[in-house]
Amino acid sequence: MRLNNTPNFVYYDPFTAISNQKAFQDEMKRVFAASRRRNTRFALLYLSFDYFNKDEAFLVAIENKLCSGVRKSDMVARLKENEFLIVLLDIKNPEDAAIIAHKLIQEFEKPVFLGNQSFTMTLNIGISTSPEDGEDLYRLQKNANIALYLAKEQGKNTYQYCLSTPGIKAISHVATDRNLKQALLNNEFRLHYQPKIDIKSGEVVGVEALLRWKTARGDMVSPAEFIPLAEATGDILPMTEWVLRTACRQTKMWQASGLNKLSVSVNLSTRIFTENNFLHTLEDYLRSTGLNPRHLVLEISERFLLEDIGNSIEFIKKLKQIGVKISIDNVGISNASFSYLKLFNIDYLNIDRTFINLITTDPINATIINELVTMAHGLNIKVVAEGVETKQQYEYLQKAGCDEYQGYYFSKPIPPEELIGFLEKNRNTHASATETKNTSR
Ligand code: C2E
Ligand code: MG
Repeated sequence: MRLNNTPNFVYYDPFTAISNQKAFQDEMKRVFAASRRRNTRFALLYLSFDYFNKDEAFLVAIENKLCSGVRKSDMVARLKENEFLIVLLDIKNPEDAAIIAHKLIQEFEKPVFLGNQSFTMTLNIGISTSPEDGEDLYRLQKNANIALYLAKEQGKNTYQYCLSTPGIKAISHVATDRNLKQALLNNEFRLHYQPKIDIKSGEVVGVEALLRWKTARGDMVSPAEFIPLAEATGDILPMTEWVLRTACRQTKMWQASGLNKLSVSVNLSTRIFTENNFLHTLEDYLRSTGLNPRHLVLEISERFLLEDIGNSIEFIKKLKQIGVKISIDNVGISNASFSYLKLFNIDYLNIDRTFINLITTDPINATIINELVTMAHGLNIKVVAEGVETKQQYEYLQKAGCDEYQGYYFSKPIPPEELIGFLEKNRNTHASATETKNTSR
């Protein structure tokens, strides 16, 4: 679609993509060549919207706003359903791109009227600039994509620069796309497991599998550093398959050695939702490891789930047909209405640790948490508190009616070989604590 008097709009239709994609790539070759020749800088903005809607009127509204928010000489392109690119030509400093990003976010905060309905849109923007973040399209686009992922993690209506921009929290230099692939081949990934405890009974009812990367040089790289990169490069798919296979096999072994009701939670990237084969692969792992699907919980981050509600609902339906449990992860306070919960058939809701951190400081949080628990229980959803670090937080959550908790107060994530010993020691401590209580009565 090309609008009059507007920037060059390149439309990436998934069905006729080749010619349009080629047009965009050709255009970008010219942009890179001109910037090299004239020694100028340009920025690539990678955008995606929350609550994306496929209606044509909605799309036209988005395109109009994007095109009117930039100069005529700039370029706007639709990459995939809910992914848009903007090329800002001839910018002086990398920071100039933030001014446009901020302006676009503000523009989308103004309501759009379609028929007699009005709505506002929220979005996230990842920014990379050339030459700093890449001198070819692949690198520049990948870096903007990583920045977009980080922006999404921060919340709605935010933009984030690419990691190589000075002053921005730097990604570990260990994580480059080449050594990420190599790490998978070299078997450098490990899983640590963090117990989940039933608040009423005090029993460990499950564990969350958390990825750890120990590089050949012996460095430990945090998942927060390499998951965004793996998302952008697509390595997240083989990585998730490895995590699932390993976690299912390990849990089945624990069940066989006596922890027969233990469940395992695995974090699932929503990128998986577009993988046709994923559901078969999942069924395959469950069959080959012998783990009962009801003992596998798939955690999906709230931010990513809400981005494309339609597809998420469909995908979750299919997962539920397999028999696995679903949990919404990293539920924060930014979404205080929680009315969206009714849309999904889910089993657990994980309250994010940033919120748990605040629960004992402000009475308003007590109201929010009580509302959340009441609403979740009304929908037959269990509430899990994450990142519980203190006795005070634990007691507060117990009173509020939370079902399970997880956090350093009970245990950090631990290597699999330590779990049984840890639980045994804990049971003994628990037993002797109870005995002491009984005898002192
Ligand atoms: P998450 O799913 O929200 O996992 C919880 C994170 O909080 C973990 O960080 C855990 O170590 C940390 N944590 C647990 N209890 C406490 C506490 O009491 N205090 C504090 N300060 N932190 C606590 P970790 O292991 O670094 O993982 C970070 C994120 O990386 C995870 O957040 C998850 O989103 C992602 N991740 C980890 N493993 C995988 C994976 O296999 N696949 C995918 N897609 N993402 C993963
Ligand atoms: Mg999680």
